[in-house]
Amino acid sequence: MIKLSNFPIKTLKSRPVVSDNLSTSLLLQAWFIRQEMAWVYIYTTLGLKVLRKIENIVREEMDNAGANEVLMSSLGSKLHWDQTGRWDVVDVLFKLPASTWKEYALNPTHEEIVTPFAGEFIQSYKDLDFAVYQIQTKFRNEKRAKSGLLRWREFLMKDLYSFHRDEASLDAYYENMKKVYMKVFDRLGIWKDTYITLAWGWDFTDKYSHEFQTLLDIGEDDIYICDECNTSHNEEIVDLENGFECTNCNSKNHRVEKASEVGNIFPLMTKFSDAFWLKYADENWKEKQVIMGCYGIGISRLMWVIAEYYANEKWISWPENLAPADYYIIVMWEENIEKAEEIAKKLELEWKSVILDDRIWKKIGFGQKAWDCELFGIANRIVLSPKTLEQWGYELTKRGEESTIIKL
Ligand SMILES: [Zn+2]
Repeated sequence: MIKLSNFPIKTLKSRPVVSDNLSTSLLLQAWFIRQEMAWVYIYTTLGLKVLRKIENIVREEMDNAGANEVLMSSLGSKLHWDQTGRWDVVDVLFKLPASTWKEYALNPTHEEIVTPFAGEFIQSYKDLDFAVYQIQTKFRNEKRAKSGLLRWREFLMKDLYSFHRDEASLDAYYENMKKVYMKVFDRLGIWKDTYITLAWGWDFTDKYSHEFQTLLDIGEDDIYICDECNTSHNEEIVDLENGFECTNCNSKNHRVEKASEVGNIFPLMTKFSDAFWLKYADENWKEKQVIMGCYGIGISRLMWVIAEYYANEKWISWPENLAPADYYIIVMWEENIEKAEEIAKKLELEWKSVILDDRIWKKIGFGQKAWDCELFGIANRIVLSPKTLEQWGYELTKRGEESTIIKL
């Protein structure tokens, strides 16, 4: 259990106005995050709980899909970035001079690292297909700030890379990944308003790529949704001069919505296997190119998107599976702390997580404690006071329901 008496938390009485989005203000007010510098954040204990819960849901679904977790390096060698010709092309690449004449990249994406890495264990068709993923900090040297839910300079991503014998196998894997992603967004409580959105592939493929866009008023993208078949298109797909025409059913009827991107998937084909000579021997010992796909989910970005999605004017009502704890116990008198700990331990035996608000010596009143519980977005509040103990119990209030006395 988290005991707030051990916890140097300082929730703010009013909402700091730091940007045009509510989520950042509320996350700062609840002391979930602190800002280190523009677009770089520190997660406090409670913020980190939420981030880890999002991360673990993503991890579970990637594992269920049969991918293998790895952890690649944050630093990339210039040699590899030169090999794909992207050292001078990716304008957000952070470049670091090392103590020798060498230079490194702080990786914004990991194709340059994962492709030679995969080359170490792909020899024949028997080694394919497979996929690896990681959950790791990424860096982008953003030059300008944009409004909305911003592009950060440092953020947590899940990136998965798949390796295939042929295009048909990539296609099947890619289609399945769409379903896996929607299951992730379902578990994160944003499935209903998340659209699989067509986007252009890169110049080396005639296939589309796909973005996962969650509807938000402050979203940084416009998506074009067909009224007839619900196919969603990003702005670059739409011929803005001649108007919208659905790529699926040719209807011109559509609506435009603001959305924020929470994931994307990309058929890489042989772009990176060409650069790194990633080949395999087929059944007849004939050399063939490995076909690749990549699949990203913005974990820290999701925390903001979910916060924005579930925010009201006062606080963030986290879905119960993402809240920093299941229960919040308010204890008002020092002699009741032991009883409160007993209740907390009982809940923990049922695999519930608990925040115990035992800030007695700080002389924090009931109003402040109840307010902090709301601000943290915790759905179940327990109050233990002389009044409830007179009735031999504690008061349980579930979000949106009447309070009840639970006998001890
Ligand atoms: Zn359509």
